[in-house]
Amino acid sequence: MLSVADALNHILEHARTKLPGEVALAEAVGLVLAEEVASDIDSPPHDKAMVDGYAVLSADVVAGRAKLGVLEEITAGAVPTCKVIPGFCSRIMTGAPLPAGADAVVMVERTGFNPSPLTPLPQGARGILGTVEIHDERFRAGQNIMRRGKSLRQGETVLHSGVELGPAEIGLLAEVGHTQIRAIPLVKMAMVSTGNELLPADQKPTAGKIRNSNGPLLAAAAQRAGATPVDLGIVRDEPHELRRCFRAGLESDVLVISGGVSAGVLDLVPAVLVELGVRQVFHKVDLKPGKPLWFGVCEKPLGDGSSNPKSNPRAEPGANVGDRTLVFGLPGNPVSSLVCFELFVKPAIARLAGRHWESPHPVRRAKLTREFSQRSDRPTYYPALVVSSAEGLLAEPKAWQGSADLRGFAGANALLVFPAGEKIYAAGEAVDVLMLSTA
Ligand code: AMP
Ligand code: MG
Repeated sequence: MLSVADALNHILEHARTKLPGEVALAEAVGLVLAEEVASDIDSPPHDKAMVDGYAVLSADVVAGRAKLGVLEEITAGAVPTCKVIPGFCSRIMTGAPLPAGADAVVMVERTGFNPSPLTPLPQGARGILGTVEIHDERFRAGQNIMRRGKSLRQGETVLHSGVELGPAEIGLLAEVGHTQIRAIPLVKMAMVSTGNELLPADQKPTAGKIRNSNGPLLAAAAQRAGATPVDLGIVRDEPHELRRCFRAGLESDVLVISGGVSAGVLDLVPAVLVELGVRQVFHKVDLKPGKPLWFGVCEKPLGDGSSNPKSNPRAEPGANVGDRTLVFGLPGNPVSSLVCFELFVKPAIARLAGRHWESPHPVRRAKLTREFSQRSDRPTYYPALVVSSAEGLLAEPKAWQGSADLRGFAGANALLVFPAGEKIYAAGEAVDVLMLSTA
């Protein structure tokens, strides 16, 4: 049977980054940029004040003190009209352009204003607002000014292809006027929950039935992994129904099917997928929970080929055009589904989205908070709550009843990774952990 690492390698070999498309800035958060972006402006566009205060000539300030006439008030967005000359200054607000002559700004908290004007008026001044006394012990020439182009210069590359776009990068793109960018589009992940026993979560189970946990679970996991979920709902274990639903799912970049991949009489998923032209890459992985995992690849969408870029050049950018769909058949027990998603589907989504992805193998180390007895013929992934402490990471294994026990998994943020075999681990012993979210 394939090891987890080998199974993941097979998946990543088939996971090609999507073709870039045009994306509006408002839709770009979390995407990976697919172009070099240069600025069309200097930023700031002028020498600007970094605080509210007074724009002064530094030669006028002696030992941190000065008494100056105030020529005008310059607010952000306005243009200064007076040159600052010896004995005078201008009141200025954060972000406003520095007036000619001034070479420092004194913050308003270190000044005292008096509305009585100084005389005589300097040449060219239309009026004087009053006088200001400055007492700024730490005054130095050039203070509280950001020079034109200090942040970025016109023509300079400000973002490189491959960067993941967060709020700061989005703001920077707006600053340099890029409202439309080339980026790797969102990855679409379809999910199908198979099983005659399944009911939607808003229904009370009748005899023999259970609620569908995996649909909502996988949609949430897809969102967390930065993919757009397309929930195709519940399908009965009937070949024609499975076929119809899988066809729709193959329109997405990733199709995740829960249930129907084990050895039961109604485990029809692999056969239906193969019949639809999905090529099996592997079936079964040496792990617990999640052994029945099935993975295959569909080289092109089904139908008349109308979404092939050659026959349909106007296909929406980022649509799964004539490319391939990665198909995962996850075992139906909810924790098996979740563990397989974390180990195999999430890395595939990251690769399709062009995101830098660091293998969680090797994993981190954490000390067990209690003795723990582990016994399995397969490498095992066991839910735990890992917290950071002065002694490093501490791992509290959850009280967990196995792959059907979602309740026991709730609150876990990590998986303890145990090799196959039997061992009693002492409290305080370090074990491998795979973090699912931050400790
Ligand atoms: P299967 O992989 O289809 O053999 O299902 C294995 C176990 O998982 C069975 O007990 C199913 O009832 C359960 N199961 C399958 N699908 C779901 C689902 N969507 N939500 C909750 N449990 C499920
Ligand atoms: Mg089933």
